[in-house]
Amino acid sequence: MTNTKKPMSLTTRVIIGMVAGILTGFAIRSLFAENGFVDAYIVNGLFEVGGQIFIASLKMLVVPLVFVSLVCGTSSLKDVTTLGRLGGKTVVFYVATTAVAITLALTMGTIFQPGAGADLTAASSFAAAEAPSLGQVIIDMFPTNPISAMAEGKTLQVIVFAVLFGIAISAAGEPGERIAAVFSDLNEVIMKLVALLMNIAPYGVFFLMAKLFTGLGLSAIFNLAEYFFVLTATLLLHGLVTYSVMLKSFTGLSPVTFLKKMEDAVMFAFSTASSNATIPVTMETAQNRLGVDNKVASFTIPLGATINMDGTAIMQGVATAFIAQAFNIDLTMGDYLTVILTATLASIGTAGVPGVGLIMLAMVLNQVGLPLEGIALIMGVDRLLDMIRTAVNITGDSAVTCIVAKSEGALNIDKFNDPAAGENEEKVELACR
Ligand code: ASP
Repeated sequence: MTNTKKPMSLTTRVIIGMVAGILTGFAIRSLFAENGFVDAYIVNGLFEVGGQIFIASLKMLVVPLVFVSLVCGTSSLKDVTTLGRLGGKTVVFYVATTAVAITLALTMGTIFQPGAGADLTAASSFAAAEAPSLGQVIIDMFPTNPISAMAEGKTLQVIVFAVLFGIAISAAGEPGERIAAVFSDLNEVIMKLVALLMNIAPYGVFFLMAKLFTGLGLSAIFNLAEYFFVLTATLLLHGLVTYSVMLKSFTGLSPVTFLKKMEDAVMFAFSTASSNATIPVTMETAQNRLGVDNKVASFTIPLGATINMDGTAIMQGVATAFIAQAFNIDLTMGDYLTVILTATLASIGTAGVPGVGLIMLAMVLNQVGLPLEGIALIMGVDRLLDMIRTAVNITGDSAVTCIVAKSEGALNIDKFNDPAAGENEEKVELACR
């Protein structure tokens, strides 16, 4: 008898891993609450080790992938003006979507008043990080040493170096072509590595979820139910509606197809709570499933994971409104504008790693004179919200990527519309030129 059953798709396997992990976490929590053995060897042993290995291997791919893929992309650009146009459009869209996100968040926060009547007192104090000056942010984009930029995982610096390197390759004539060919091959190898790693993802996701849900303090959610739900609703609204409207009006592409194809990347972002660690999956999704050319995706995705964080900005908007209400402080129109500006800038300056949005919130609160102790109020529920907002962050990166790619004629519409595109990585063309 031959086995004609279709192999289960990666998405299905990851969903199974995620649900099984969550259930296991809850089961352990209720059945083995005080069990030292389970705690030491299963939760902090097996789950912790398995989950961290998975995250480490995703992170391991980020620098080589961003560098090689971006060198490939830029070296195949015909002229530098294309790059300037591409960069300009991308940044404008990233900043604009973030401003829309935070405006939406402040509006929702004002309408639903999640903090009104909350009789919560602050438990600890925080120090706000100083916002770096714009000049410093720009200077910091340029590496003095590309190797240390890579070693330290400074994505913006790696992007700048890769772009310059790519431009030099395309300007270097025949030797440049030889090097470009090497990078093209390297790119294929690295994408293969991404595909290999995706195979262990269901297990990795299982371990991460099981560990997290064994220890997740869910009682905080009940105390902060209104904040939690207003924020989640705003994140969903932005993730599902704003991007759909944008995509439809700028490209005419189907938002349903787009969202459907984002599911793997969204799940990775959710499980890791890190846009940065999700870069390999987002990039794979953009190129193989959504049909974006490597020229565009290799630039916009890592850039987006570093500077475009709509979900984070939404959290900051709702949190600001919540804290102001909880402490009975009225915000003026000017304050709202300040929040929009600061949160937009703050999201540009933050790396896509877990929990960092909460640290940046201190900067925003500081700007409008709100007590930083407010952060303590929302900390208890932040982990789960971090997962949701990271999923929104990378959805935003991908939506803008599609829009920019379409406008540059770098989107393969047949591939975008083909529901099976990229499902079976064996068949996929990954070449960057
Ligand atoms: N975890 C988020 C990300 O990686 C950033 C944050 O809001 O904390 O995109």
